Amino acid sequence: MAENLRNYINGEWVESGTTQYEEVYNPATKEVIALVPLSTKEDVDVAVRAASGAFETWSKVPIPRRAKILFAYQQLLTRDKEELARLVTLENGKSYTEAVGEVQRGIENVEFAVGVPSLMMGDSLSTIATDIEATNYRYPIGVVGGIAPFNFPMMVPCWMFPMAIALGNSFILKPSEKTPLLTRKLVELFTEAGLPKGVFNVVYGAHEVVNGILDHPAVKAISFVGSKPVGEYVFKRGSDNLKRVQALTGAKNHIVVLRDADLDEAVTNIIGSAFGSAGERCMACSVVTVEEAIADEFVARLVEKAQNIKMGNGLDDGVFLGPVIREENLNRTVRYIEKGVEEGATLVCDGRQRMNDEGFFIGPTIFDNVTTEMTIWKDEIFAPVLSIVRVKNLKEAVDTANRSEFANGACIFTSNASAIRYFRENIDAGMLGINLGVPAPMAFFPFSGWKSSFYGTLHANGKDSVDFYTRKKVVTARYTEPTFD
Ligand code: NAD
Repeated sequence: MAENLRNYINGEWVESGTTQYEEVYNPATKEVIALVPLSTKEDVDVAVRAASGAFETWSKVPIPRRAKILFAYQQLLTRDKEELARLVTLENGKSYTEAVGEVQRGIENVEFAVGVPSLMMGDSLSTIATDIEATNYRYPIGVVGGIAPFNFPMMVPCWMFPMAIALGNSFILKPSEKTPLLTRKLVELFTEAGLPKGVFNVVYGAHEVVNGILDHPAVKAISFVGSKPVGEYVFKRGSDNLKRVQALTGAKNHIVVLRDADLDEAVTNIIGSAFGSAGERCMACSVVTVEEAIADEFVARLVEKAQNIKMGNGLDDGVFLGPVIREENLNRTVRYIEKGVEEGATLVCDGRQRMNDEGFFIGPTIFDNVTTEMTIWKDEIFAPVLSIVRVKNLKEAVDTANRSEFANGACIFTSNASAIRYFRENIDAGMLGINLGVPAPMAFFPFSGWKSSFYGTLHANGKDSVDFYTRKKVVTARYTEPTFD
């Protein structure tokens, strides 16, 4: 029998007050691996009260001591890296190699947060007027809520809670109800590292928990990562309730391939970007905009490579493509493929032929001759489906990409420096890749989507996260001239 998960509140695993539980699947086998509670607003309230109490003491713990706990946490996460990666594959389905990469990226956020003594430092000016000085101090803001998606059960929560907690806040995490298991390990290891109880709490569930966090007067800031419609809703409702909100949302990432590109490099990287993690990455390439002059050759090479991709359970050796997360995602993907055919795109690699009953599997799918009017060009499909748009030149490629409502990442493959500069200056996207396929910034840079890929002002990670999770106090002080006997 699959076990019922419990919330983690005030340092203890406690049962939710709900009677409603949802099944958690291993998407590669369809096996039910746990039951996650759809917790209630009352559960959120209990967690927020615990977090508010813990904030009173945690926010006053000397910053170097907080850094030491983060440092111990980094070591424990590193010690248990393989177990964490296995959990990622088990509940999300991505290949074990990618899961290891994800865990590593999560740990890097903790490493960045260890630098909190320098990151939290304020500024001062010794003389702003005669005998007057000014100093800017940073303080934590209170209880922070984090709402996470299913596609990175380790990395995305690590964009949020390590830095928020290092800066002296307390935290309520609502992981995705589809991937709740790894979170247990995240809290247990933080406790083992010496984090006091109540500082990091987990409330499992879905929209009721989200609403509970959005409406609770004691929650001061909210970090959200997920789809565009939900992100918009979270941003609006959280802002209406006068909270700070950052919402990192959907994507439709374009890769431009020019005629002077190293085609082998381009094809290999695009395969990794479009079909890695089953296309369930906010930085996945979903459209390639290729110059007509090389399009035939490029498409032929891409299709050949895609057809040779090994699909299966991510824990098996050599598997590159795992399943999508749920049956409804699979059905939705099939509907998009049907729509692409209906709207006149050329289906050159049909992933439906590789579907099987063992899990939520669908093979790599490639459409050629896609246009910007087509639904498959416009919508975020979030599955291993790639569109190819043929263009005359770089300008048309950039103009085409800029018509997308999303602007998370964009890449170019070329050996021409002027083209790179033109691309950098003119493309709408917050994270660019030059001759690489997944330009996800490291922890010390902001994760910086534009347009409908982000709502808010301060992004996740980097110095933005320090600003987001702190408030400032500027002290202006007058000192009289000393008298000397
Ligand atoms: P989702 O929006 O369905 O869910 C995200 C979170 O919101 C989950 O915790 C979920 O429980 C909650 N939620 C879902 N529906 C809700 C509702 N009606 N009301 C309140 N809360 C609700 O997203 P997902 O399917 O888990 O993740 C995939 C999406 O996340 C994709 O769109 C992807 O692009 C995006 N994503 C973006 C980034 C980024 O950095 N921009 C990173 C990772 C994922």
